[in-house]
Amino acid sequence: LADLNFSMPVITALSAVLLGLFACNALGDTTAVTGSANTCAQLRRRLGSSVIVLPSDAGYAGLRDENWSQTAWRSPWCIAVPTVAAEVASVVSYLADNCIPFAVRSGGHDPNPFDSNIDAGVLISLEKFASVSYDAETQLATVGPGARWEAVYTELDKYQRTMVGGRVMDVGVGGLTLGSGLSYLTDLYGLACDNIVSYEVRVNRGLGNSQPPKKSLSADEVSHDRWSWPTER
Ligand SMILES: Cc1cc2nc3c(=O)[nH]c(=O)nc-3n(C[C@H](O)[C@H](O)[C@H](O)COP(=O)(O)OP(=O)(O)OC[C@H]3O[C@@H](n4cnc5c(N)ncnc54)[C@H](O)[C@@H]3O)c2cc1C
Repeated sequence: LADLNFSMPVITALSAVLLGLFACNALGDTTAVTGSANTCAQLRRRLGSSVIVLPSDAGYAGLRDENWSQTAWRSPWCIAVPTVAAEVASVVSYLADNCIPFAVRSGGHDPNPFDSNIDAGVLISLEKFASVSYDAETQLATVGPGARWEAVYTELDKYQRTMVGGRVMDVGVGGLTLGSGLSYLTDLYGLACDNIVSYEVRVNRGLGNSQPPKKSLSADEVSHDRWSWPTER
């Protein structure tokens, strides 16, 4: 149990949300939100119908109501279900560049109505980023933000390992770790976030006053540590 640290590539839009909104406010551009039909048509042209789900599509209702609490069942203009990091980057860039409101959902267990769903805007569902792997040599697990804890523990069980994670199997890795994460092992090993070695973060703006590049970066103790918690090892 001494090696519960894990490396988790969170394809996170959190930073892009904050920086994107900041850019809109800085410009005083509160009218830049385009209409729902235009936004979703543009996104669909970029990414295709398998990634951008419209209200008229068969899968929309199930995706919209995926959140654990009914209080968070909303009606987004459309729902993006990216399957690779480049698609996340493309959606986030488009939305942030055009000041379009959006919500991000990993496991959907946050009951607050608009934390991980939205009415006037686009929902990004990370459910396809559900991979879990373990490297016995480094003793690090790599987990996608759309994974649920059950999948994490099931995979680690194969190696007779476990990690500091959620207490309910259904909860998502993304939201729980971003919110710190209480575990049955917390008294011994701290919060879930204390055990994360690095995050993969999608950035839509340069840091501080710097200009883009827009890119993915790795946030850990050494690089971009403002987006990472100190890790107890
Ligand atoms: C039944 C139940 C059991 C629970 N048990 C525990 C427990 O044992 N320990 C504990 O600490 N907490 C527990 N919680 C609380 C839970 O950890 C939080 O509600 C957490 O936010 C859920 O994570 P999620 O990914 O499922 O939620 P989501 O609703 O998908 O996400 C929560 C928030 O994080 C944001 N977010 C999620 N993923 C990303 C991402 N990749 N990038 C950017 N932003 C992101 C969302 O936008 C949203 O604002 C429990 C909640 C429930 C309902």
